[in-house]
Amino acid sequence: MKYKIGVDVGGTKISVGLVEKGKVIRKVSFGTAKGKEKVLGQIVEGISLVLEGIDKKQIKGIGMGLPGIINKKKGRIIRLPNLRGFENFNIVRFLSKKFRLPVKIENDSTCAVIAEHNFGFCADNMVLLTLGTGIGGGVIINGELYSGGGNAPEPGHLIIENGGRECNCGSKGCLEEYFSGRAIIKEARKEGLRMDIIQLQKEAEKGNKKARRIYEEAGKNLGIGLSNIIKLLDPELIILSGGLSNAHNLFLHSAQNEMRKRTFFRFKGQIKIAKTLKDGGVIGATLI
Ligand SMILES: [Zn+2]
Repeated sequence: MKYKIGVDVGGTKISVGLVEKGKVIRKVSFGTAKGKEKVLGQIVEGISLVLEGIDKKQIKGIGMGLPGIINKKKGRIIRLPNLRGFENFNIVRFLSKKFRLPVKIENDSTCAVIAEHNFGFCADNMVLLTLGTGIGGGVIINGELYSGGGNAPEPGHLIIENGGRECNCGSKGCLEEYFSGRAIIKEARKEGLRMDIIQLQKEAEKGNKKARRIYEEAGKNLGIGLSNIIKLLDPELIILSGGLSNAHNLFLHSAQNEMRKRTFFRFKGQIKIAKTLKDGGVIGATLI
């Protein structure tokens, strides 16, 4: 049994990989469909595709990272804020019946931080942010994964504005309503730029002033979030991962400026783009 299957379920993209000792041997990705049945169909199709021609006896099991709140022990999804319809669904039971393999689930950002800690940048005290459709995160303190009572961290829902924009989580003024793929697309629409996040990034990189300003302004909001994280944990490393991190040239400068302005002590740690940015979610899902 030398392989594991890693599944990374995101609000924008679903990736499935065949992984051997932290290396992705085969991978398929889909743009996330709308609706529970279609998403489940994509997951099943992805697993079937990477399994093609492989003896099942070579597969240790399936690990899956999910963007939301889950009950790991029971194998159940509690809520995925950016993927409706999965409330209380037992995805472990569903997949283990379908593939007759052991299945484990974990929060997607936890998978990303485990992958980075093992195969990317590593420090005893580090915070990883997954910047995607929404924002998630993982924290390592003294070399150990930290989740408090089981739900920490949720950096996307740090409040950066009292009484601010309504968030999917039920609160108002959360960071991910001001800095995330979803928030940036919304801002772009207001400016008459109706396009998806990949197109918007290209537009900004080509020099479109409106698009560039949207990323810059959003970056300031990320900076407020970073400052809050630093004041709470002062980590050695802050790692930016998730698809939106590919656009770091467009927002990191303004984020760091804002972060410095709002942090009264000198942050001696480093902010880096994840080494495992491309496949961290898939690799991490096989390490749970
Ligand atoms: Zn929220």
